[in-house]
Amino acid sequence: MELESSIDTDRFSAALRARVIDVKSRRLLITNFHGSKQEQDLTEPPNCNGFGRVRHFCLAGNSGWPQNPLPIEPARRALHMRSLDQLRAQVFQISACNWRCWYCFVDRTLLSANLKHASLLAPSELVDLYLQEASRPQVIDLTGGQPDLAPEWILWMMQELKFRGLENDTYIWSDDNLSIDYFWHFLTDKDREVICKYKNYGKVCCFKGFDAVSFAFNSSALPECFCQAKTDPFDDRKCTHLRGLAGTLTTEKRPI
Ligand code: SF4
Repeated sequence: MELESSIDTDRFSAALRARVIDVKSRRLLITNFHGSKQEQDLTEPPNCNGFGRVRHFCLAGNSGWPQNPLPIEPARRALHMRSLDQLRAQVFQISACNWRCWYCFVDRTLLSANLKHASLLAPSELVDLYLQEASRPQVIDLTGGQPDLAPEWILWMMQELKFRGLENDTYIWSDDNLSIDYFWHFLTDKDREVICKYKNYGKVCCFKGFDAVSFAFNSSALPECFCQAKTDPFDDRKCTHLRGLAGTLTTEKRPI
């Protein structure tokens, strides 16, 4: 198979970020599943007027695979639930991703900030939609796409849930493909402190390969992006980014 690994992650991420977030009005471009290919894969119809879906996380893996306790275990503990084999989560998807993994279950029209399948919504509108659901899950999964194109999304959702008095009854789960360091660039120290101190939050990060070749094969990003070290030009944190391998590592012991 001919490999086409050509994504310039920095440039593509910047272009997508400009489309998925309006910082001034605090809105994010959220996928609407109605009429999409992904809708055909769903076991339950979309909810939240098409902007949400329910995902069932299962502890049991496929035959020969280990159990997958994420996010079941951290969410269960945070919410003081009994042991669970399966967990329902309310999913919202940001409508863009800066990589194109061959195995992605999200169709590409829902990864490219396509306005035919997405609308700019404020976290308050997402929470309104969530609260309208009669049998709403307690876990809210903020995914994509690549949610960290707009790390403000996580912060704003936390602030909104707190404002509604829901921070103890819900658990926020998000994911990250380890491609960018926007968490350090676009959030302030104070923002990061809010995230750090938020009790009911967990995040999962995924590895896209074990070397440059497998990484490029899986993500379609340029292979040199697999292990790319750079110094943060914006502050003295001396971040080292090993994209695709380990995300963001800081060389100093500083609380985030
Ligand atoms: S990083 Fe995730 S959302 Fe993006 S293409 Fe890969 S699997 Fe899909």
